[in-house]
Amino acid sequence: MRGFFAGFAVAIATLSISGIGPAAGQDFPSRPITLIVPAAAGGPTDAVSRLIAESMGRTLGQQIVVENVGGAGGTIGMTRVVKSPADGYMVTVWHIAQATAPSLYDNLRYNVIDDFDSIGRIADVPMTIVGKAGLEPKTAKDLIDWVKQKKTAVTYAHAGIGSASHLCAIMFMSAVNTQMTALSYRGTGPAMSDLLGGQFDMMCDQTTTTTAQIKDAKIKGYAATTKERLKVLPDLPTLDEVGLKGFEVAAWHAMWAPKGLPADVQKKLNDALQTALKDPKVVERMAALGVEPVKPEQATPQALSAHLKAEVAKWSPVIQASGAKAN
Ligand code: ASP
Repeated sequence: MRGFFAGFAVAIATLSISGIGPAAGQDFPSRPITLIVPAAAGGPTDAVSRLIAESMGRTLGQQIVVENVGGAGGTIGMTRVVKSPADGYMVTVWHIAQATAPSLYDNLRYNVIDDFDSIGRIADVPMTIVGKAGLEPKTAKDLIDWVKQKKTAVTYAHAGIGSASHLCAIMFMSAVNTQMTALSYRGTGPAMSDLLGGQFDMMCDQTTTTTAQIKDAKIKGYAATTKERLKVLPDLPTLDEVGLKGFEVAAWHAMWAPKGLPADVQKKLNDALQTALKDPKVVERMAALGVEPVKPEQATPQALSAHLKAEVAKWSPVIQASGAKAN
């Protein structure tokens, strides 16, 4: 009898190796999935990730557990992701920083294009220039004059070199032709707590975390960093309107997994993501935060891969011109 079972096991193993056995992801997912947010809790990436994770988890019939691994502009969390098995049980949601990291980090321990498999792009997220309550300048124009005059006496926060808030700040400083003093956080969740406490002057962050605070007058909203005014905060002028001609930066979020994901697992994850992007609860919540889910054709793995390559090429000369470097 023992011999029979041993032979049976060998036969199953042989079938699987030869590819005749069950496909790698047939039972996927049979246990919870980990989703690394490479930024602290309470920030824009965390908010978008939790919304998506909840909906995708319902579709997949397994919980997606969000883990925050912030620091070094997201590169600590992303290093953890690439070192994990490519079986679909480890995914990440990150943003535009995936495209800016290669230009900023000389010692990046992964290749943003070759070491990840795309699952899909999630949303585009506008950004806003905000200040602590009671900050002297009244309008965006006043703010520009004020930072030009005060220079490094002005403190601003970002979520690490290469983060969206950092990218926006370096573009702002270069457009205004000034330098301010930076404070680095593991994500703009904790940075927002400190801004509410008045511990620094200003920051540029996604509408995801700034909208409610601006509406409740807990912080000052100065300007939108997009070409058009925002539906969610229509009173904010754009930076272009107040004299920084052509200023435009918006973040985008996407989901990736370590390279080597079985094709059927990648498809299941993308299908669940596409379903989440049509989930009325997700759509409604995103709209309230000024976050715009991408169109279905932009949320495919192929579209994300093409988008990332284009974004790496787009930001490389901008960052080079700014002189910014992480190490
Ligand atoms: N919004 C942050 C950034 O500036 C990241 C985060 O906390 O989600 O990139």
